[in-house]
Amino acid sequence: MKPPEVDRRAAALAAVAARRARAAVKREVAERRRTALSVAEESWRGGDATAPESSMRVRELLTSIPSMGPTRADRVMERLGIASSKKVGGLGVRQRTKLREYLQQRERVPRASRLVVLAGPTAVGKGTVSQHIRDHHPDVLLSVSATTRPPRPGEVDGKHYYFVSDEEFDRMIRDGEFLEWATVHNSSRYGTPRPPIDEAIAAGRSVLLEIDLQGARSVREAMPEALLLFLLPPSWGELVRRLIGRGTESSEEQARRLETAKVELSAQDEFDVKIVNRDVGQAAAEVVELLDVPGA
Ligand code: 5GP
Repeated sequence: MKPPEVDRRAAALAAVAARRARAAVKREVAERRRTALSVAEESWRGGDATAPESSMRVRELLTSIPSMGPTRADRVMERLGIASSKKVGGLGVRQRTKLREYLQQRERVPRASRLVVLAGPTAVGKGTVSQHIRDHHPDVLLSVSATTRPPRPGEVDGKHYYFVSDEEFDRMIRDGEFLEWATVHNSSRYGTPRPPIDEAIAAGRSVLLEIDLQGARSVREAMPEALLLFLLPPSWGELVRRLIGRGTESSEEQARRLETAKVELSAQDEFDVKIVNRDVGQAAAEVVELLDVPGA
């Protein structure tokens, strides 16, 4: 049976008002004026199915959380066993418990721990994994290092590195502009500029540093709350194949880098988490997950 015209109008207006109310709640979460957990708790406490907190889909609530993208939200929901169409107010007791525990765990993690360091032996694919993150997760700040080595073909100043002279690098050290710096492969110097990292963390953004082992150790000293990740090759043979296959270094340089890689691999137990780089997309997804909540 068709409802009378006046009821249809009223229903349409009510739907618009409800959508606006949900959008307002989502904005509050996105701007950190309210936590996702408090929204869920309010829905479950109130029991009013038409309240914006209740009529919002779980997916909408999760994707309102800063730095939580749709892919990650889908993965979280899958793990919690919550169907994508579920509304917050429509969750059963077990699903509520699981969502509550997940959100509580997120909120317990101090913000500063979102500084994540990605290290690993030479040619393991750190650069490719970070490139993948740069392309797919613009919300993550990928620190741009300064280096004294010349650019490779296709590398852009200010995007891949700041290519600086030895004198400029000396000046940056003198002026305390680096969080850490190191001489890598006994040749060029590389350093992480500190100001962009401090700014990003203060703004609640996640920061990823892709640096060498010495750099990772220095960051641990300077910022013990940083999470240290170690990217592993599927096997030693595969690492050798990748290094030779890259073809960007001379054979002496390759031999030198393999020696370094052996030493670097033996340091893997100093790291908080190890990730095997079998597939770039998969490894990048694991890193992104850890950028937000360790153990999520
Ligand atoms: P590449 O010359 O191949 O770009 O990088 C050589 C090595 O330098 C890689 O292991 C890379 O992780 C490391 N590296 C890049 N930037 C930094 C940095 O800012 N600090 C340190 N310690 N290592 C870096």
